[in-house]
Amino acid sequence: MQIHPSRILRTPWTAAGAALALALSLFVVVPASGTEAASGCRVVYTADEWTGGYTAQVRVVHTGSALSGWQLTWSYGGDQHVTSAWNATVAQTGNSVTAVNAAWNGALADGGTVDFGLQGTWQSAHPAPTGFALNGVSCGGDGTSPPTPTPTPSATSTPTPTPTPTSTPPSAECGNAAVCEDFEDQAGPAPAGNWHFTAPDCQGTGTVAVDTEVTHSGTRSLRVDGRAGYCNHAFVAATTDLSSVGPVLYVRMWVRHTTALPAAHVAFVSMPDSSQGGKALRIGGQNGALQWNRESDDATLPAQSPVGVGLSRSLPTNSWQCLRFAVDTSAPGLDTWLDDELVPGLHADGVPTQDVDAQWLSRTTAPRPTALRLGWESYGTGDDTLWFDDVVAGSSPVGC
Ligand code: CA
Repeated sequence: MQIHPSRILRTPWTAAGAALALALSLFVVVPASGTEAASGCRVVYTADEWTGGYTAQVRVVHTGSALSGWQLTWSYGGDQHVTSAWNATVAQTGNSVTAVNAAWNGALADGGTVDFGLQGTWQSAHPAPTGFALNGVSCGGDGTSPPTPTPTPSATSTPTPTPTPTSTPPSAECGNAAVCEDFEDQAGPAPAGNWHFTAPDCQGTGTVAVDTEVTHSGTRSLRVDGRAGYCNHAFVAATTDLSSVGPVLYVRMWVRHTTALPAAHVAFVSMPDSSQGGKALRIGGQNGALQWNRESDDATLPAQSPVGVGLSRSLPTNSWQCLRFAVDTSAPGLDTWLDDELVPGLHADGVPTQDVDAQWLSRTTAPRPTALRLGWESYGTGDDTLWFDDVVAGSSPVGC
């Protein structure tokens, strides 16, 4: 069986009501079978696992005649059980799992790629999945035993990202957005033109630079080397004034980072908010999961209870993630999507929900973001290296 655990990372994960547990990150590549001319598939199954649970991102690369619908099947060798999924409908019978395309991602051209994700539980064993097949055609290697994984601690090194332009610049999809940025017109290493360096509170050793090595589109992106410890803040701010964008401010960005979100509070998006006297509305992480934070009263969305944290999502590392959010400037409402999945813990509506937005809605004033800043703030522990690309902000939503 051609299963290659390419890397295994140990990262901290703070799970609901549990002490800090070591999480195991599995990255499994199933190569396409046959020659290039033959039809086939390649599956990259990347799992973040912790005691009792896991999430997995699944990428399918199809080679062959275009498909109008697809079904990916595989087998679990342990007692993994899928409990939810996004961007596909996933069902499990015994150890056999079937993922069927969602309404919007059934078309798969020759060479096309589709991504979906899932969440699940396990009790006693969680070996890498085997036997991937796309529409009944094996993705390769069936019939032999999988090799025994040989985990390598991640402490040895951080994987070196390679340039992987995966989409066209966003200009065609921006419409009349206030910010439409692929960073391609940045000439030097220091952000210039429509962007400038800023350290909203205080500046330390964090840095920001235009990067030509790791990009989502084209040959330029924004790289942030964030450092732990208060006052190592480093951001770039768009010069565009967002004060009149609304009534809903929609933002779409591609973000890629290196180190799993820590237990301590960090932020990587910061928007000065005139409803808070200029203090920031922030997106970042805490307890290993994404969160919103309101600087003036330190309210968080979701609440940092185990249940609340469990309704948010981790931010996968070493891959580009599409982060979208909508800020209602007429009411204290927020929506947040990660890779097209609406994250339930990052959703504030008009009805206070315990563990989610009850604390957030204790303030009835609507936010009024006036600018967009991308970078890194750590208020305790937490180093990270991040990239941002293909950023859009405006009065209309833009997809991934
Ligand atoms: Ca770019």
